[in-house]
Amino acid sequence: MNELLRRYADVLESLDAQGLLRRLPPSDKDGLLDFSGNDYMGLARRPELVAAAAEAGRLYGAGATGSRLLSGNTPAHEAFEARIAADKGSEAALIFNSGYQANAACIAALLDATALGAEPLVFADKLNHASMHLGCALAGARQLRYRHLDLEHLKALLEKHASEPRPKVILSESVFGMDGDQADIAALQDLALAHGALLYIDEAHATGVFGPRGYGLCEAVDLAPTTVVMGTMSKALGVSGGYVACAGIIRDYLVNKAGGFIFSTAPSPLTVGAGLKSWELLPGLGAERTALLHRAEALRQGLRRLGLDPGQSTTHIVPVILGTPERTLAAKDALAGQGIVVSAVRPPTVPQGASRLRIGLSAAHTDADIARLLGALGSL
Ligand code: PMP
Repeated sequence: MNELLRRYADVLESLDAQGLLRRLPPSDKDGLLDFSGNDYMGLARRPELVAAAAEAGRLYGAGATGSRLLSGNTPAHEAFEARIAADKGSEAALIFNSGYQANAACIAALLDATALGAEPLVFADKLNHASMHLGCALAGARQLRYRHLDLEHLKALLEKHASEPRPKVILSESVFGMDGDQADIAALQDLALAHGALLYIDEAHATGVFGPRGYGLCEAVDLAPTTVVMGTMSKALGVSGGYVACAGIIRDYLVNKAGGFIFSTAPSPLTVGAGLKSWELLPGLGAERTALLHRAEALRQGLRRLGLDPGQSTTHIVPVILGTPERTLAAKDALAGQGIVVSAVRPPTVPQGASRLRIGLSAAHTDADIARLLGALGSL
């Protein structure tokens, strides 16, 4: 084999030997009971979304034809951003092609040492998503990582560095995607304000599922102009794309400095049209949200009865923590044998020793689906 290809092949062999090789799952899931998705409100296949995508495509085209700053700005993009800002209670919003791109581009730009006049001190929850790490890495910012959800630890770190004149930024998810637990957003914002820090919250897994109208955990909090809220259209909204809701000055700054906004073709009108329709449906889904969270609680109770560990989950994301990659893969395969699809999540996505099945519940699941899953887990 060619020397370069040999090196890549060696990496794959080493991952395989550790039980960490990733493989694409089968593409055909017909007839299977699927808990591996993030379509938390069961919206992805709603005809209204498909019709809204088609209508936006008819009006503005299938593709945006250029970046927003060139030819890609359409009334659909502007309408969606106005709606996000209004519903998030922020001055402005900006949309991106994906949540990953939004985090990488916005965090990198917000941490820019030249703009801030000094290298920022970045305080980050230990379990933040890979895209947030990427934003820090792009800015060359070192992270001070606090224990997961431990605001006493964060406070101690902030106090320790209080006398340093460097700008401070706090980064956290609101609902954590692999653990299904929640940050206390009001307390985080209080800490940020007390220390003059910018607060950046990733609502990827909360948008659509939490908040009085479904607009995320931050909906219940009066957002400060120095709080930036990011989210995705790719999970509970059932479409794709990312957004930040923020002060007008921050939006203007990102339009000028966020590479993933400036140098990338604008989101397709198809996804923008569908995303806006989905966003508009959220306030009407209160009963579905309540039922989803009840079903998640029933699942956790069932898991505990089986002696299985759902960690600290309090949401629609329920891990079954099994420890080793081997045990996790074996459980996933055994469930697959019974027609049930779950994700096996292993390091580096989760810490060593915390490999798990990840069960993503959706409003489209029924009580009978949960009973079937528990029955299958009980027979492992
Ligand atoms: N943030 C978090 C917390 C996520 O879990 C994800 C997706 N796994 C993203 C951002 C990226 O979002 P997207 O899938 O829209 O790129």
